Amino acid sequence: MARYTGPVCRLCRREGMKLYLKGSRCDGPKCPIVQRQPAKNYPPGQHGQRRTRRPSEFGLQLREKQKVRRFYGVMETQFHKHFVEAERRGGVTGDNLLQILESRLDNVVYRLGFADSRKQARQLVRHGHFVVNGRKTNIPSFLVKPNDEISVRPGSRAREYFTDYTEVLNTRRAPEWLTVDAPALSGKVLNLPQREQIEVPVFNEALIVEHYSR
Ligand code: SF4
Repeated sequence: MARYTGPVCRLCRREGMKLYLKGSRCDGPKCPIVQRQPAKNYPPGQHGQRRTRRPSEFGLQLREKQKVRRFYGVMETQFHKHFVEAERRGGVTGDNLLQILESRLDNVVYRLGFADSRKQARQLVRHGHFVVNGRKTNIPSFLVKPNDEISVRPGSRAREYFTDYTEVLNTRRAPEWLTVDAPALSGKVLNLPQREQIEVPVFNEALIVEHYSR
């Protein structure tokens, strides 16, 4: 399945909640989820305004899975691979899944404050602007480990985007499991995040586990 290239606000409308896919615009008054009257906040598309029926158990599980997948901008195949890994690790599969999604390199670059959205972070990683422990890494799904150091590649530091970014980085607040060194344009993973350290909209990971265990 190809990557979704349509209007992203539509995805938030489909899930009925803010998924923060457009960076700073999501916190502004132009967000359609905020702008629309509650009565007009129906799902997009021709059948969006149909009388809503009570969703089935499968429907609930599917929506929860899609919500998390879209929030992190991950394709179905990759998402399922992360789920298999989460199951293999033992413990609470739902917590493991969120921990794996959080430790993806594109998400870490976003959480460190180098990008406005995960989509932008993914592109920066794909274009080879970051090194992990000194090695160029351009795989967005690369999973970071504790003590890994993520920094802007020396060859990319002189780019206007990053020279302007030092000031922006100073204003950003990284989560407690990461630390940022703004002048050095780098960050470090202190530990992998526990469930309570992961800032996400209300997700019910247990429904995703049920969905894949059918
Ligand atoms: Fe669009 Fe962001 Fe609002 Fe979602 S949260 S509807 S992506 S502006």
